[in-house]
Amino acid sequence: MRLPPNTPLEKFAEFIHLVQEICGRENVEIVAKPEQLSKDHYLDQSKVHDMFYLLGKDCFVSSAVVAPRDVSEVQQIVRLCNDFDIPLWPFSIGRNVGYGGAAPRVPGSVGLDLGKNMNKILKVDVEGAYALVEPGVTYADLHNYLVEHNLRDKLWIDVPDLGGGSVLGNTTERGVGYTPYGDHFMMHCGMEVVLPDGSLVRTGMGALPNPNSDPSKPAHEQDANESWQLFNYGFGPYNDGIFTQSSLGIVVKMGIWLMVNPGGYQSYMITIPKDEDLHKAVEIIRPLRVSMVLQNVPTIRHILLDAAVMGNRASYTNSDKPLTDAELDQIAAKLNLGRWNFYGALYGPEPIRQAMWQVVKQAFSAIPGAKFYFPEDQPDNLVLQTRNLTLQGIPTTTELKWVDWLPNGAHLFFSPIAKVTGDDAMAQYQLTRSRCEEVGLDFIGTFIIGMREMHHIVCLVFDRKDPESCKKAHWVISTLIDDAAERGWGEYRTHLALMDKVAQTYSFNDNAQMKLNRAIKQALDPRGILAPGKNGIWPSNYNAEQWEIVPKGV
Ligand code: ADP
Repeated sequence: MRLPPNTPLEKFAEFIHLVQEICGRENVEIVAKPEQLSKDHYLDQSKVHDMFYLLGKDCFVSSAVVAPRDVSEVQQIVRLCNDFDIPLWPFSIGRNVGYGGAAPRVPGSVGLDLGKNMNKILKVDVEGAYALVEPGVTYADLHNYLVEHNLRDKLWIDVPDLGGGSVLGNTTERGVGYTPYGDHFMMHCGMEVVLPDGSLVRTGMGALPNPNSDPSKPAHEQDANESWQLFNYGFGPYNDGIFTQSSLGIVVKMGIWLMVNPGGYQSYMITIPKDEDLHKAVEIIRPLRVSMVLQNVPTIRHILLDAAVMGNRASYTNSDKPLTDAELDQIAAKLNLGRWNFYGALYGPEPIRQAMWQVVKQAFSAIPGAKFYFPEDQPDNLVLQTRNLTLQGIPTTTELKWVDWLPNGAHLFFSPIAKVTGDDAMAQYQLTRSRCEEVGLDFIGTFIIGMREMHHIVCLVFDRKDPESCKKAHWVISTLIDDAAERGWGEYRTHLALMDKVAQTYSFNDNAQMKLNRAIKQALDPRGILAPGKNGIWPSNYNAEQWEIVPKGV
């Protein structure tokens, strides 16, 4: 069992007793037996440790997991943690796979499972086209709600690749999806947040009381201002950003804008036969994307990402070396795909879609051998059929399959931001592929194209039960973080084990941003109880150097 730092067993037992009084014995799980670390699937995710463990099963593990039933219980638990100096790690659903799942950065922290009981869709407003959700509302829940209430003809949601995570957790981590509403943080509006001292704030217009609310009720039950989910910024400094990828608050309600059903939809795939034509493709994409002719967040996926969804490594090769260009060409030919495959969609009534399609098709025709497909052209293409759903906001879990590329498959994401230029794309591709191949891994990756940048997501698949494989994956990602920083590239998000390392690369002007982050942390959380170490920000009562994780060489 991992106890919280500096917490003897008797003190921990007293804490557990009190926390059980707050939220009921049935909502407190003490982590004390090895079999509690046996879950290994996204759909039955572990809430007590990182099941895609890189550094052993019990490196990132909680001492207990507590599931409050409402906001007032969250506040009481936070106050109790202050009294006992016990670190608390909030999560919503715990499916943040590839980045650490539900696990805490500091072993022995108490996990705060917000999703188990606080999972209501509080409101769907058709006129305003938004929803207000609690932490446990998954993309699948919100989509099902629209279907069950016959609202899909009015409103769509945006979903990430996997639909089992929470709307709130994904947004606070600044995750992305693939419709025109793919930038989730951009599309959120208004938060209710429990601060590290247990107090409660509403951000943006939520700070202005609703004149009809009942002041005798606890703050979290009071009716909110009617513009809370309509205007993000309110008055004065804009607070919401500091509650994303953050250890400054527990978000207990969040507004999210929904997309008005565009009245017509057509997804498509463009196959790009040659590896080096990634350059040309990205140059074609930039002007189309920034001018919104490409309306959604499209992706250019490497052949192996699509291949891995359709079969594991052993189904393609007996070789234990990284796949060569010739082998990749063979796989592409076998699957009727390109070395790169571009997935986009057209939204709107037929004449609008037709006009957009002509522009897109003409532009991509500059790539020799590019081919254009609609989902109906390839009914058996699992990836195209899945993207067809994802790009219209219908949640799936099909893309889980690529994690099985290797036996006991687990994954880490290396996620640098790239300019939308052919040069940047090629340079990041060459760098990441060659580093992967150095340790015998295949490159699997995708470029997700935002309005003015790309999230380049490299999927590092490793065998979690093979310590050598874990070591290699850790070395690759760690080395890539350095390589990238040397070229001015930084990651938008990272796994628990790499948070310090990535934070250190954002070092402009003598680490001015980290100093600012630490100053805010000290002001809001002087006892350092909320998510210490999250994104590399350590409270003053932790010795950051001692907590840093250094990968072993390979
Ligand atoms: P998902 O809902 O996609 O499964 P998680 O619940 O695993 O995502 O959350 C991912 C991370 O986001 C957590 O480890 C935590 O750092 C942060 N997070 C999630 N929910 C909240 C929340 N309600 N308040 C503050 N941070 C949160």
